[in-house]
Amino acid sequence: MHRVKTGPDSDIMDGDLQPQDGIMSGTSVLLVEDEKNIASFIAMYLRKEGFMVETAGSGSEGIVRAGKMTPQLIILDIMLPDMDGFEVCRRLRRESDVPIIMLTARDAPTDKVVGLELGADDYMTKPFDPRELVARVKSVLRRVNPQAREVSSPVTAGGITLDPGRHEVSAGGGDVKLTGKEFDLLHYLMLNAGLALSRQQLLQQVWGYDFAGDTRTVDVHINQLRKKLGGNAGIETVRGIGYKFVG
Ligand code: CA
Repeated sequence: MHRVKTGPDSDIMDGDLQPQDGIMSGTSVLLVEDEKNIASFIAMYLRKEGFMVETAGSGSEGIVRAGKMTPQLIILDIMLPDMDGFEVCRRLRRESDVPIIMLTARDAPTDKVVGLELGADDYMTKPFDPRELVARVKSVLRRVNPQAREVSSPVTAGGITLDPGRHEVSAGGGDVKLTGKEFDLLHYLMLNAGLALSRQQLLQQVWGYDFAGDTRTVDVHINQLRKKLGGNAGIETVRGIGYKFVG
């Protein structure tokens, strides 16, 4: 374990990346945090668990994004450049009762009280283990939506079984060795079976790039997956868009 440290209100523990039990997938999360390292780090953990994550680097951007994407949960940092997280929370609450988890600083114990009074559903004190945040996200989601989809169990489609808990894939009765990214990519494709997914979207959700990364990376990994899984592995090319998993 090592620490990622980028500022006084922002160190978090890095652990291993094994997915935890009780994965809740396809749920959209908006992360409002101006510190890019922290944001991409948290986003990576959430995406690992199958969440769709969008990030906003300021309070006003967070409010705009929240209105556009109507996330199922918002993670909101208090220390933001334009307005503080309390103000963002206050404004969001005028429009919606989306679950909000606030990120507070350890040296400001009153923050959590204020946050909860403003209508936040939970809070996490920095620094934290990202796995704990993931657990908190799931628990809040379960609380507000007991029917939330749980996909901790293996996904099976088109002769392929992917077990997120064990990080194992089998196809045609044999084990298939995949790299971390190949695994994540296949997982994401399988969870979104039947949907055409753009290269940009795959790049963002699997690699966590919040900028225009090189989409050829996606093609290279798809080719590897097809090679390893045999045939086209149920992964169809969608002309002009990207790929689609057809189980
Ligand atoms: Ca911040």
